[in-house]
Amino acid sequence: AEVPRKLGIALVGLGQYAGGQLAPALKETEACYLAGIVTGSPNKARQWKRQYNIPDGNIYNYDNFDSIKDNPDIDIVYVVLPNALHAEYVVRAAKAGKHVICEKPMAITVEECDRMIAACKEAGKMLSIGYRLHFEPHNLQMKQLGQNKVYGEIKKIKAYNGMGDAQGWRLDKKLAGGGPLMDVGIYCVQGVRYTSGREPIAVTAKEGPKTDPVKFASVEQSLTWQMEFADGMIAECRTSYSEEMNLLRAEAERGWFELSPAYPYSGIRGKTSDGPMKLPQVNQQARQMDDFAIAVRSDRPTPVPGEMGRQDVKILQAIYKAMETGQRVEI
Ligand code: NDP
Repeated sequence: AEVPRKLGIALVGLGQYAGGQLAPALKETEACYLAGIVTGSPNKARQWKRQYNIPDGNIYNYDNFDSIKDNPDIDIVYVVLPNALHAEYVVRAAKAGKHVICEKPMAITVEECDRMIAACKEAGKMLSIGYRLHFEPHNLQMKQLGQNKVYGEIKKIKAYNGMGDAQGWRLDKKLAGGGPLMDVGIYCVQGVRYTSGREPIAVTAKEGPKTDPVKFASVEQSLTWQMEFADGMIAECRTSYSEEMNLLRAEAERGWFELSPAYPYSGIRGKTSDGPMKLPQVNQQARQMDDFAIAVRSDRPTPVPGEMGRQDVKILQAIYKAMETGQRVEI
């Protein structure tokens, strides 16, 4: 049989995630490869060109990025910029006639998400969000156990995600859209959504104390929130930039199932009330990008579309409103 062509991906924004995770994963992918880069740093351009053997014609900066439309090597643009820049670059990529992967959170407002979805639709291009855990066996097992009600109806989900080392643009509300909720709390919202297969109807939230008010001048340092569901299920969630936490746990009528840690790139471990999960560790990013390339090639939907990213941003905005007003906010 004929071997299908690997699709070319261009990474936009060569920071920690692009360099530490995505580029190495693109050496293991089978349906796509690292074909190009878009960077504001000429020194990174030189280094990546050497390290990944990227031709000069496939190297762009933020000013000449739109001319990527004339480059047949690039099928997919992957936006890995600070959150507030996602919308602009996704729209420009779509206008350049490219399929798009955009990192989480999709954007910092729902209105931006709407523009991104519309631009891709108008261009006839696919849009997906970098939700790598939808390609990770333990997280898929949580979805299977929860959505198929293997332990009966879920009564409560606990989802905690926090880290202690945030810096740079992540602490700047203009670029990040918020604090740990936007960056790592979003995994809790996602985890609750795919474990239950249900959508929250309302949220309440409480900001934690600022032990470092200078560092956390423009964003929350930590946050606890609750999501309510129509059938009475409750999700208790926590996020922080000053505490390591990593849990996704569902308590159901006839048992429980949990991941701890739940969200890292590797080393995820799962247990149920019947014993440990015995599932493989995989390269999440390689699977995620291969799945999108295959979706593009075969014209089938992605399991992590822009609409999913938009719904998360909508929920995050409701959580912030609840935090600021002290009121229960309906979604
Ligand atoms: P970094 O700060 O490490 O990298 C961001 C890069 O964006 C920079 O290196 C720079 O690249 C470029 N950039 C352009 N304009 C700016 C600006 N004004 N300020 C700062 N950087 C700028 O961030 P991360 O790689 O950690 O995060 C990037 C995105 O990826 C975020 O949306 C984040 O949420 C997401 N992410 C997702 C993860 C996941 O597991 N799915 C994990 C980590 C991050 P250059 O010099 O090439 O122009």
